[in-house]
Amino acid sequence: MPSGWQAGVRLAVNQGVIVAVETGVEMKGGEQVHGTVIPAMPNAHSHVFQRAMAGLSEYKTHPTDSFWSWRDLMYRLANEIDAEQLYCVAKTCYQEMKAAGYSSVCEFHYVHRDKAKNEDFLTASKTVMKAAHDVGLPITMLPVLYAFSGVGDQPLHPEQRRFELSADEYIALWQQLNTVKFPEQRVGICFHSIRAVNKELMTQVLDALPQGVPVHIHIAEQQGEIDQSIEHHGLRPVEWLYRHFAVDASWSLVHATHLNDQEIALIAASGAVAVICPLTEANLGDGVFAMPEYQKRKGHWAIGSDSHIEINPSAEMKMLEYSQRLVHQQRNVCCDESQPHVGTWMWLQAVQVGAQSAGLPVAGFQINQRFAAISLEATQPTIEIKPGAELLDAWLFSDHVNHRFIS
Ligand SMILES: [Zn+2]
Repeated sequence: MPSGWQAGVRLAVNQGVIVAVETGVEMKGGEQVHGTVIPAMPNAHSHVFQRAMAGLSEYKTHPTDSFWSWRDLMYRLANEIDAEQLYCVAKTCYQEMKAAGYSSVCEFHYVHRDKAKNEDFLTASKTVMKAAHDVGLPITMLPVLYAFSGVGDQPLHPEQRRFELSADEYIALWQQLNTVKFPEQRVGICFHSIRAVNKELMTQVLDALPQGVPVHIHIAEQQGEIDQSIEHHGLRPVEWLYRHFAVDASWSLVHATHLNDQEIALIAASGAVAVICPLTEANLGDGVFAMPEYQKRKGHWAIGSDSHIEINPSAEMKMLEYSQRLVHQQRNVCCDESQPHVGTWMWLQAVQVGAQSAGLPVAGFQINQRFAAISLEATQPTIEIKPGAELLDAWLFSDHVNHRFIS
């Protein structure tokens, strides 16, 4: 429950939505009975087409292989994929998300232009939304504004042409998607990064579209983009963003990997979400999020599976905590005095804040939220694992627990 572990919980669900919550109840007939149950996890960051290259770029092409050489491979895929293939990849990937225990997805979508018909930038987004609807995964569709290849309005490279939209095209796309979306879906606003847009384009879009919808942007993922930002603007990316825009709790800053103390304070005070993608960030060699400092300031964070190198919210949590242990040479970093169990501390926050990032009713076991849950069961008969916090820790950090998605 949002307040922590409770025994004897009864949820009444009508058409997928929780309509009543009782605690401390006895079992009665005609109910589905489960043991230890936790809410499913909102997935706050996805590039669904990248699922088609998961695990296929793990070989050296250059002595200094990095994010940027991985990106060249990713562009080759982005330029090859057509609408039919995109539907198949998205449908399969979203099914995998549900099975893994995700309740919803924020889809950060930038492969806009049709492979054959360059003037068509609507079909790809609609294809992705249809795939999510067909598998029953609520989606926050985030069409991405992508206009430049680097800070300072550098022209796009040929391999980025399918991503390109003008601000007017972007606004037209957003309005069309908002009209055709399915009832369980939401359309948010999205800027690729401060590399790919400028202040004027962002202002034009934000002024033209409704306030209060989720706004997502990649920020400070790589040292290279911080160097570009300082060189051109004299400011780091987060400083630049907060200097020019009223960033609030409707914003999600994806990655936010490289932050100084002042930037950590800015994000935490604004109530914006830092979306951490631990497995992808590790796979791409991005760096480690400054969790202890962010935690001290009670910053909001959620998780995303991003490139989908693995679709597994439990593994994302484990990677996040383990990266902190390795960097700080400590154990049990992601927790505090009021909630010493790492699994419970992480899971509760990431569900609550993940729902904030998505702008969808996926905030766990509360009235008017969508019901999506994971039941946990110990598989190790020789070790006693208590239901509740201990079982959740054991699911995240050992292989003694199985999980099953319920919705
Ligand atoms: Zn991303």
